[in-house]
Amino acid sequence: IIACDVVNPDHIDATFESIGGLDGVKQSLHELVILPLQRPDLFAHGKLLGPQKGVLLYGPPGTGKTLLAKAIAKESGASFINVKISTLMSKWFGDAQKLVTAVFTLAYKLQPAIIFVDEVDSFLGQRRATEHEAVTNMKTEFMALWDGFTTDHARVMVLAATNRPWELDEAILRRLPRAFEVGMPNEKERAHILRVILKDENVDPDLDYDKLAALCDNYSGSDLKEICRQAALFPIRDLLEQEKNGGDNSQNLRPLQQSDFEKVMES
Ligand code: ATP
Repeated sequence: IIACDVVNPDHIDATFESIGGLDGVKQSLHELVILPLQRPDLFAHGKLLGPQKGVLLYGPPGTGKTLLAKAIAKESGASFINVKISTLMSKWFGDAQKLVTAVFTLAYKLQPAIIFVDEVDSFLGQRRATEHEAVTNMKTEFMALWDGFTTDHARVMVLAATNRPWELDEAILRRLPRAFEVGMPNEKERAHILRVILKDENVDPDLDYDKLAALCDNYSGSDLKEICRQAALFPIRDLLEQEKNGGDNSQNLRPLQQSDFEKVMES
């Protein structure tokens, strides 16, 4: 049943290093999520820092919410349980409640664990007048199990993400008292994201990241990744062209250049 992906922290490829920008959010999440998962002993005293129920990440598509959630799991040494809402709601409609129970049971077993609920608005959003009973039951079950974790001091955290925070109902917002905006990157952050995305690539040392970032006004992290993917095809095309024209086959791919990126953006 593929209603959720479960990834062991050793197999998560994202780290805080692989996220460009979002410095403030990263710092806050370190204290709010990573530390309590790594060092619950530090949070067991007094009542001020009681167990955290969850954290909401909100912002436009492609800004790195999923990446952030994965990196948090990696940095905390926690298993990452990615709940696939659409699968859960459609295919397994009748069994949705059972699946919710299974997700929480698994998290409990694997703890420390992070349950990541993307598009939480479609799952736990405001109640619709026509809502099916199975959906209502599933929501109730989710909330109840979630509350159980909180009182249990389990090392499990729910990270929820949405593009439409205003569609969440009171019950869910109460359980997500801390919300962080994962917004569109500014120019400086875009330059940082480009550096991170191209870190392990064969790139011309003269590539001007700041200039590129300035050209990419209003691009999200995921748009920047797409630009880089398309740019990376140019050296391949050039090499194939050379080979076709009788050049020798032992040539290596040339590094990615400024002009490759500019060509992508002009097209
Ligand atoms: P959605 O709301 O559509 O689910 P999202 O906010 O969860 O989007 P991600 O899925 O995390 O966005 O981003 C898609 C991809 O874009 C990432 O896997 C990563 O390659 C790249 N990306 C996005 N933001 C960043 C960033 N801040 N730093 C580095 N890469 C980024």
